[in-house]
Amino acid sequence: MSGQYNLSGLKKGKYEDTFNGYLSAKYPVMFLPILFDEERLITEFERLPTKLKKMVWFAATHVNSEWNVPLVLTHIFRTKNEQNEFYSGDKKYQENPWSSPHQDYRAVDIRLTDMGIKAAKELAEIINDLFPYDEDRTRNAALVHDVGLGAHIHFQVKRD
Ligand SMILES: [Zn+2]
Repeated sequence: MSGQYNLSGLKKGKYEDTFNGYLSAKYPVMFLPILFDEERLITEFERLPTKLKKMVWFAATHVNSEWNVPLVLTHIFRTKNEQNEFYSGDKKYQENPWSSPHQDYRAVDIRLTDMGIKAAKELAEIINDLFPYDEDRTRNAALVHDVGLGAHIHFQVKRD
């Protein structure tokens, strides 16, 4: 299967070349659907940087084919007010507020209940392997965490 990628589901020509640049033959792919928890996420997804879209497409394929579960996006964009509200009970945030990559369309959250924590961590590892945050891997591109709303998978890309 080396170097053979089924690109159905992608707009052929537009992404094909660059996409192959991200993948090794280790993970042959066939693209499968992404589910959106809320309708607004569909529009938000369109605004994501191409690299982040590719990460989600790849992840959807992987969880469908490996574990036979759907990939469900639960969160993309967050306003500053929503960020403040989100951390309203956090003392550290009150003293020194930080911004979230969700505030500029650089992050997505994925539900992990369908796949379970072990599979979620495995998925995060694969994503970090294939789509490093930057050359020096100063941050993780994918992580499993719980920041108050229950454990989920978070993907992020560096600001351009
Ligand atoms: Zn997140």
